[in-house]
Amino acid sequence: MSACSCDNACQECLKHYRNSIYHSHLDRLSALQLLSWAKDGKIAHPASYTMQEKMVKPFIGILEDYGISVDFGNDVMKAKRNDSRQLTLSEKALTLMVYPAMLVKPKDSNAIFISDFEARYSGAYAVENIKTALNM
Ligand SMILES: [Zn+2]
Repeated sequence: MSACSCDNACQECLKHYRNSIYHSHLDRLSALQLLSWAKDGKIAHPASYTMQEKMVKPFIGILEDYGISVDFGNDVMKAKRNDSRQLTLSEKALTLMVYPAMLVKPKDSNAIFISDFEARYSGAYAVENIKTALNM
């Protein structure tokens, strides 16, 4: 499973005839995290910045439609409202981070956290989380 290079799951790693009704739910990266935790007690670490950026980019257009811009800097993503009438905290850019879905959602008033599951499979939910964090 770790040697496969597919995005979610394929016939080479997880998919086979007997689990065909679950194919749309299979995710080899989540499975590897779960197996590592169950076997060795290792807790999943956040994906690399490059991977987080790759997970967020597909819904940048939707965020822009809602008046939210995301700045992809050096190892830090920042999200902020574009509404120039807001002169309060809500205009402050917040760090945007993707965390492993198997972990408890981190808390930090200067950051927005979306799970890797939301980012990969539920962009609409991730967008709502970002809007809420920016008081929209
Ligand atoms: Zn695969």
